[in-house]
Order: sequence, then C-alpha cells, then structure tokens
Amino acid sequence: SATKQKRRIAILGSTGSIGESTLSVLDHAGDLGEANFEIAALTANTNVEKLAEQALKYKPEFVAVADESKGDDLRAALAGSGIKCGAGASAVEDAAELDTDWVMAAIVGAAGLRPTLKAALRGADIALANKECLVCAGDVLTAAIAKTGGALLPVDSEHNAIFQVFDFDQSERISRLILTASGGPFRDWSRDEMVSATPAQAVAHPNWSMGAKISVDSATMMNKGLELIEAAHIFPVPHERIEILVHPQSVIHSMVEYVDGSVLAQLGTPDMRTPIATTLAWPTRTPSPSAKIDFAQVAKLTFEAPDLIRFPALRLAREAIMAGGIMPAALNAANEVAVASFLAGGIKFLEIAAISEQVLDRSVKLNGPATLSTLEEAMDADSQARRMAEECVAAKAAA
Ligand code: NAD
Ligand code: MG
Repeated sequence: SATKQKRRIAILGSTGSIGESTLSVLDHAGDLGEANFEIAALTANTNVEKLAEQALKYKPEFVAVADESKGDDLRAALAGSGIKCGAGASAVEDAAELDTDWVMAAIVGAAGLRPTLKAALRGADIALANKECLVCAGDVLTAAIAKTGGALLPVDSEHNAIFQVFDFDQSERISRLILTASGGPFRDWSRDEMVSATPAQAVAHPNWSMGAKISVDSATMMNKGLELIEAAHIFPVPHERIEILVHPQSVIHSMVEYVDGSVLAQLGTPDMRTPIATTLAWPTRTPSPSAKIDFAQVAKLTFEAPDLIRFPALRLAREAIMAGGIMPAALNAANEVAVASFLAGGIKFLEIAAISEQVLDRSVKLNGPATLSTLEEAMDADSQARRMAEECVAAKAAA
C-alpha cells in the first residue's frame, strides 16, 4: 500500500559480481507490483566509473569509494546530482552505518569485516555474501547479530540452500549438512597438470560467473573449505557433521539430513540472483530474473567424494576449525595474499595451498591455542598471517 514504509537498502561492494546481481534482482522486484525498496547507499573499492554510473541510475543518498585517491573523481562524476559521497575505508563504514534496514555485504575479503560488523551492530538485516567475514571473526559477527536481533541471511548459494530447508526449531533432529561443490575447473586435473595451471584457467569456472578471488578459491577448493567454516558459524551443527560432496552440475545447492533419514535440498540454476532474491524477500518470495531449471535438459545429477590429496585446502580448513580461535582468520589471510600473488603472476597455482599451510602451521606454533573474542584480535591475526604469507611469497619469487 502507499502508506507502507519503503525498505532502505545498502549494497556494500555494489560494483562486484554479487553487487551487480543484487541490483539486477532489484530491477525486477517490481514484477509482482511489490517493489518497496529504496537504495540508500552504494560502495566500491576503486571503480569510480561504474560506481558513478550506478549512483546516477539509482540515486542513493550516499556513495563511498574505499580508495581514498579516487575521492575527487567520484565527487566530480556526481557533481550537481545531490548525491553525497565519501572516500576511504571509513566512508565505506559510514555507508554501513547509514540507517538502512537491509545490507548486502558483498565486499570481497577481510576488508568487508568492519563495515559488515558496523551494520550488524546497529541491527540491520545482513544479507551476507562475504564469507571471509565469518571465517575471520564468525563468533564476533554472529554475537553482534544475536545481540541486536537483526537477521543473518546467507547469500552464499550453499548456505542459502541450507537456510531454506533448515528447521531451526529442531536443529537437534538434524544429523548432517551436505555442502555440495562443483569441484571447480580442475576437478579432473592431476596434481602434475595443476603445477602449471594459469590464472586464466583458474578463473574459468565451469558453472558460475564470479569475481576473480572466489573463482581461484573454487579452483583450489579453498572456497569449499571457507564455506565449511562459514556453515559451522551459521548453523548449530558441529563441523564433524558437515560433509563436502562434489556435484559437478551445481543443481543441488546443498542438503540437510534429518535423523529420520529425510534429506531436504534446494535446487536451482547456478545463478546467484536466486539466493540474493531469497534474502531480499525473506521470509516471503520475490521474482528473480535467473533462468529456471529444465530438468530434462540437465538429465543427470552426479556425485563424487572430494579428493583431499589433490585439494589440500579442504584438509587445511578442517585443521583451522579444530585449532580454533584465530586460526581460521590466519588461514584466510594467507590464502588472500597467496591468491592475489597467483593472479599477479607471482607464484604458481599449487603454491597457494602450500603457502596457506605453512602460514597456518607457523601461526599455530607462534600463537598456540589463541582464542578469539574481539574484532581487534581477528584483525591482528589477519595482519600477522598476511606478513608471514608475504614472506613466503617473496621467498618463492626469489627461488
Ligand atoms: P568481486 O571481486 O566481483 O566484487 C568485490 C566488491 O568488493 C567490489 O564491489 C569491490 O569494489 C569491493 N571491494 C574490493 N576490495 C575492497 C576494499 N578493500 N574495500 C572496500 N570494497 C572493496 O567479488 P564477488 O564475486 O562479487 O564476491 C563478493 C563476496 O561474495 C566475496 O566474499 C565472495 O566470496 C562472496 N561470494 C561471491 C559469489 C559469486 O558468485 N560471485 C558467491 C558466493 C559468495
Ligand atoms: Mg558458494
């Protein structure tokens, strides 16, 4: 109705793959005649051209670019539009703090941590795409959300699938979570073949179109390792009862098994606009422009056990969970540094997991069973692991 309050929305990371998919869903939200959204804030890292274009189209109240040196370009591009702008990491946090009802957390990497936590602390519903947030400081973020009573709406397709079929009122009757994995572009490659895998080959995902970092994570399967840690924070199920299953067609996005043997799954085409739409409309539904499944065309769904020898990242993620405290943050930081170096041509593909393992081992030796209860501890662990990973990268480059 005309009197209904508009839901105010912020998109952190609006220029990325998830950010653009979110805008695409919003473009279609009017199809049911229920479009009651107002985009209040958009943010980006460096891409001022795209950010300004989005701002002029959606007319938010505030836009922020994280890269301080791009502030003048942004102001120039938006001159006369009446849209407020800011530059620097603190401006991105300001966007998170603006009084919005729903925040899409789609910044990539640990950089998303502070803004997401700020949005959570003021009680906004958080549509969480940024898995690194939960991996680095899951307890801090989930505690903030629990305290303010906002909703944590998982965007990552696996967690979104589980969320849709997870009965939180009888979580003790859930026997297993099954996280499905496409297996990535190197699912059939031998370790020998992976030695010379290039960045172009690693980012060419068979099913999903995503940002570069997560695409490389899919190739190493670190993505599934991070998702395991993420799942253990979102759902009240211990990691021992969260299994990873390779399912190359990416039709079943994950499953929940109940004690009576029933398995509930969510299915769909591999298009992030479906999970994004569910978080936007939750607890109801809204149309999404994603293609619908043609089962006859898919014809076959297959499954295989993951190979922990070819994909050591899966083992590292379990080790990080078991070590607990800051160790998942250390693993995540090492992986971020290694992936960035791989994409820049600095290290080889298999060195991503090797460096992540070295840093995790060193971090365990240095820090012992270090607990984690504040954002600062997570950020310190992140910085320490980044330094160690940079050293490993430099040593590989010198070799
Ligand atoms: P992307 O690289 O396409 O976009 C990242 C966004 O974050 C961009 O808007 C960029 O400007 C912004 N950003 C980057 N560094 C920043 C910084 N230091 N400060 C502020 N903003 C910064 O990445 P993506 O594929 O959209 O992924 C975003 C997040 O969602 C990641 O954490 C990823 O793991 C997760 N995710 C993505 C997909 C997918 O299909 N793309 C699926 C599941 C989860
Ligand atoms: Mg996923």
